[in-house]
Amino acid sequence: MSKQILVAGGGGFIGGHLAVRLNEAGHQVRSVDIKPLDQWYQVVEGADNVVADLKDRQECQAACHNVGDVYNLAADMGGMGFIESNKALCMLSVLTNTHLLQAAVEQGVDRFFYASSACVYNGDKQVNEDVIPLKEEDAYPAMPEDGYGWEKLFSERMCRHFREDFGLRTRVARFHNVYGPHGTWDGGREKAPAAICRKVIDAKANGAPEIEIWGDGKQTRSFMYIDDCIQGILAVMDSDILEPINLGSDELTTINGLSQMVEEIAGVQFQHNHNLSAPKGVNGRNSDNAKIMEYLGWAPSIKLRNGMAKTYAWIEGEYQKKQAETTV
Ligand code: NAD
Repeated sequence: MSKQILVAGGGGFIGGHLAVRLNEAGHQVRSVDIKPLDQWYQVVEGADNVVADLKDRQECQAACHNVGDVYNLAADMGGMGFIESNKALCMLSVLTNTHLLQAAVEQGVDRFFYASSACVYNGDKQVNEDVIPLKEEDAYPAMPEDGYGWEKLFSERMCRHFREDFGLRTRVARFHNVYGPHGTWDGGREKAPAAICRKVIDAKANGAPEIEIWGDGKQTRSFMYIDDCIQGILAVMDSDILEPINLGSDELTTINGLSQMVEEIAGVQFQHNHNLSAPKGVNGRNSDNAKIMEYLGWAPSIKLRNGMAKTYAWIEGEYQKKQAETTV
């Protein structure tokens, strides 16, 4: 029997897109998520879709049975609003990665991919809006995002030591703000691109004059479209890159700039009400892509404007569906 590919967190945003892509490529996919199936963003027909809590070691054993590759996209996470007020929950994802690594070794898995984050980077390197893009070595000396970032940094090292000590072929990428359709856009876990789309759609629908922006909006970020993310995950898994590597766009924008872009896509213009007491994360962050270019001759390149247009259209559709449901 040919081996399956496990997508842990397959009911989520990135895991859902990855499961679809692997299925389209002809692989037998096992997708596992803690959420009930009706809450998965994408359910791949013909895949082995399993609802289970991967913090549990036995569930990890079952999930890794007869599996060749593991992609760990499972984590209890969200945007700044979520991770700043749920640090313990974020850190509990350490159980998922640890038990998956142990199960992978015990079940003879060939390859293991771990989704890390730009939140591992030292906060001292991200105090200015005028950023110097983050190089991989900037994670140390360690002073990552409290809670979420510490868990990611620890789990990165766990992957390294499982490779060195137990011979499991682990690969790690540090994602920088991923966005696109089929992801969280409301409910409190959404990130800036989706949140801004929803606010603009909502204000447009209700004839409101303004939208709320968290912070002064001058904070700088880069955002990677989901198609680049999936291509990068597959390329990093296939590569010989042993150390954690940046996987992000280096097209820098401000949150104000992102908001103006969404308004332009929507054909509207709103006043910005800056909420200075809302969580806003670091002042500036960008991805240095020299290393990934050197290794792969490739880096994420989908233009923010193109990706945001697709994301906006999808969220607008979801918003309208939800409005229709609540008015029935
Ligand atoms: P997501 O929240 O949409 O997906 C994560 C999925 O994991 C969810 O469906 C959730 O239900 C599932 N999950 C959580 N705990 C679980 C458990 N105990 N057992 C089984 N499933 C569980 O998030 P995403 O944006 O798809 O992120 C995927 C991965 O990429 C995460 O590790 C995240 O930290 C990382 N990452 C994402 C971004 C981003 O911008 N989206 C940036 C950096 C890193």
